[in-house]
Formats: sequence, C-alpha cells, structure tokens
Amino acid sequence: MRQTISQLVDTLVADHQEFDGGVLRTEQALLTRLREAVSASTGGSGSSGSSSLPSERTALNAGAFALWEDITGRIASMVESATDERSVKDPRRNLRRWLREWKEQVALGDIREQQELRQAGVLTRMIERIRDLFDPPTVKEFPGVCPSCRGRWWFTNTKEGARTSVLHCILRPGEPVKVSCYDCGEHWEGERELMRLSLVLELWPRVEAMTTHHVTLVGNDLVAMPDVLDLLQDAAG
Ligand SMILES: [Zn+2]
Repeated sequence: MRQTISQLVDTLVADHQEFDGGVLRTEQALLTRLREAVSASTGGSGSSGSSSLPSERTALNAGAFALWEDITGRIASMVESATDERSVKDPRRNLRRWLREWKEQVALGDIREQQELRQAGVLTRMIERIRDLFDPPTVKEFPGVCPSCRGRWWFTNTKEGARTSVLHCILRPGEPVKVSCYDCGEHWEGERELMRLSLVLELWPRVEAMTTHHVTLVGNDLVAMPDVLDLLQDAAG
C-alpha cells in the first residue's frame, strides 16, 4: 500500500495514473496543476475551463498562491540542503534533482528507515494539501475523547460557542480513512492504527459505519478497510 519515495515524487512532478472510483484515469502532475491555478489568478491564460463562481475562484486562487509559495520554498530547501547546489525556479526540476541525490544516498546505504518514513511523510503531506485545495475532503465528527491529549471538544471561531468533537474522520476518495485530532494533531490511519484507536475508545460500531461509507465512496477501489471489521469482531468476541 505505502508508496515509495519515487512514486510520491512522480505524483508531484509527472502526469500519472490514479484510481478514481475504480476507474483508472490520468492525473496531471500536482505541481503543474497548482501552478496553473496560480497563473489563472494572476491574469495568465492557464485556466482550464473552470465554471465556478468568481468568488469561489478567488478563494481557490488565494489558497493556491499561498500553497505554491509554501511548497516551492520547502522543495527549494530540500534540494539545497541535500546537494549544496542553488535551487532553480521550477520546483519540479528541484524535486527531480533532489530525488537523484536521494537515490544515490540509498545506493550508498546512507538512508535509514526512519529517514525514509519521515521523508515520505513530508511528500505525502504536500500531495494531500494540493489535492485538498482542489477537492476538499469530507470531514465527519468522530465522537470520543482523544487518547493522546484527552481533549473532547473543539470550539470553532465561526459561531459563538459552536463546538465539534475534537476527533474527526477525514474521507478522501480512494484513500484509507484517517482519524485526526484538531487539538494535538495526532492521527490514526490504516487498519492497524484504526483498530487500536477503536479498541481504546470501544467504538467499533462507529468504525463499521465509517468504513462502509468509505467503501461506497471509492467504488470498486477497495482499500482493504472491511478487514478492520473482522479484526475488530475477533478482538471483541
Ligand atoms: Zn488530541
């Protein structure tokens, strides 16, 4: 299931194939897509026939610009610290350069598993943030006390006294369900972690509801989440 560093970099810099509701389709390189959203906001002709309302487009463009600045800055730092070379303007070239260096380090045996996990996390987070900009995930309340920070409620600023459960589950088409805490940022994803969380919270019926929803969300692209139920039932029974 877990993607390699090369696959993660490819998702950002090269057009690639993705499952969408069970259908294989080609997804544009995410950095290219993000740059086009930015140039559309600055009067460029990069708009891809969007029919959204002007106010929505403005919000997307403002978000796209901030995200572009942040992510290209991070990539520039990555390549500069890995290679001692100056970064160039195009983040896709920087990231490819960084990947070449990474592969050399791997070949030399200089990369430990911990480092690889951390780097995969950094790249995954970039991918998620860009995808979330274009397709915001479905977020649902997940009742329960956070096992990590013991928080229960999260108070939102939008409305006086409005509160929501501190734990919430995030559903992205084609991806495993993730549960996250607004307060401490701890998160659980994948079968094993969700099982552990639900055992701690004695919540497996809710996990069942969640995973059923997930399966309908992703169509034929099963993400092995139903197995969680078997594991939970075994553990409970
Ligand atoms: Zn927490």
